[in-house]
Amino acid sequence: MLNIDLHCHSNVSDGMLPPAEVVARATANGVHVLALTDHDDVGGLAEAAVAAADAGIAFVPGVEISVTWSGQTVHIVGLRIDPSHPDLAAGLQSIRNGRMTRARRMGEDLARSGIVGAYEGACDYAANKQMVGRTHFARWLVAQGHVADVRSAFRRYLTRGHPGYVEHEWTTLENAVGWIRASGGMAVIAHPGRYAFDARQQHLLLDAFRALGGEGVEVVTGSHHPSEYGKWADLARAFGLKASRGADFHAPGEGIDIGRLPALPHYCQPVWQGWPELDSCFSQNVA
Ligand code: AMP
Ligand code: MN
Ligand code: MN
Ligand code: MN
Repeated sequence: MLNIDLHCHSNVSDGMLPPAEVVARATANGVHVLALTDHDDVGGLAEAAVAAADAGIAFVPGVEISVTWSGQTVHIVGLRIDPSHPDLAAGLQSIRNGRMTRARRMGEDLARSGIVGAYEGACDYAANKQMVGRTHFARWLVAQGHVADVRSAFRRYLTRGHPGYVEHEWTTLENAVGWIRASGGMAVIAHPGRYAFDARQQHLLLDAFRALGGEGVEVVTGSHHPSEYGKWADLARAFGLKASRGADFHAPGEGIDIGRLPALPHYCQPVWQGWPELDSCFSQNVA
């Protein structure tokens, strides 16, 4: 079986490893086809593509776009995108601009709770100063001894109702899917089980996404408990969407490692069906 992992992060967003080291880790873990999907930034794709070619694994250029839908943050993964497409590039730049304002406000909010210097601290943890996110704040809070680990940082801070959480309006679902499609890519709903939606809202999201030209949902992801795989595989099928697999790897020791999740349920229609990237894999396996 081919090991295909279509969701992970480098230090261009909130991962810890540089893009080439993410590719090296994927290769060591036996991944045959890898997509790098940094939040709101495509700056790591060129380095990752070169590293993948050197390592002999297939590479898929990707991105994970932050969206606000029905009052909640939803993540849309773009796969097989053209990172140089002007609509996509301009859209992602506008999201990064909003991130910086938000990061300063998060720092101000933490200061009101007596935690000073968080904005500067988070920036120190971000290799890409345009892409400061909650994970960078979380790692700084751990390093400062405010919490024991990143998980606790999100439990006590940085989430709705806790210090450091700032309401933020990301881009629209329509924009995100539109930019991905304009650049020739395929749009996939990331970790659909993670959002605070009831069944009715989940169905509305799948319907709206499909109507906009979205094509897939993540079924097997590090954010889903294995008991949820069947539910999302069934919903994907019911709503005419394909299924994706990705660990959402961020850093060694944080969450699931690249390429280490189970396969998709056998009855899923995978997003990678018919991709030319798989041909090169098969010819290499034969050679
Ligand atoms: P942001 O885009 O800045 O709001 O940050 C979102 C990122 O925070 C996600 O992509 C995850 O990497 C991380 N994250 C969100 N919630 C949690 C959590 N409960 N535990 C650990 N990491 C989380
Ligand atoms: Mn992240
Ligand atoms: Mn996500
Ligand atoms: Mn992610």
